[in-house]
Amino acid sequence: MEGVTAFTISMKLSLNAPFPEDHISYQLLIHICEPIHVKIGALGMQHLAAGHYLYTGSARRHLEARVRRHLRREKRLRWHIDYLLSHPRVVVVGVSTSAIEECRWNRSVEGEVVIPGFGASDCRHRCGAHLLRVELPLG
Ligand SMILES: [Zn+2]
Repeated sequence: MEGVTAFTISMKLSLNAPFPEDHISYQLLIHICEPIHVKIGALGMQHLAAGHYLYTGSARRHLEARVRRHLRREKRLRWHIDYLLSHPRVVVVGVSTSAIEECRWNRSVEGEVVIPGFGASDCRHRCGAHLLRVELPLG
């Protein structure tokens, strides 16, 4: 997609480049290697099938710090995505950032809402969720 910068992640989960300064949104490509049950904060216990998922978020300030936080295993669980990424079978396999507004970017993804409301507490654009199950390669 135009205006999107994709980063590769090394084995040590270090990112390979500084983020463009005008970028405000990020997507995490997530792989779940086998079906899991995981408690997602107030959304309660959820089941997720094995496969790939795309999470879209934003941070108008300190975007890189936000993404690096997502890549750290040890942290206080705050957002829905923190609960998901705390599960040992869940791995972030790709990161992209963009200047595109998060909901617009999220809605451009061909994917399926599997946990209604996930990551969408602040969403005013009826995305349904900011976590989508996707098929690779992404369309
Ligand atoms: Zn949204």
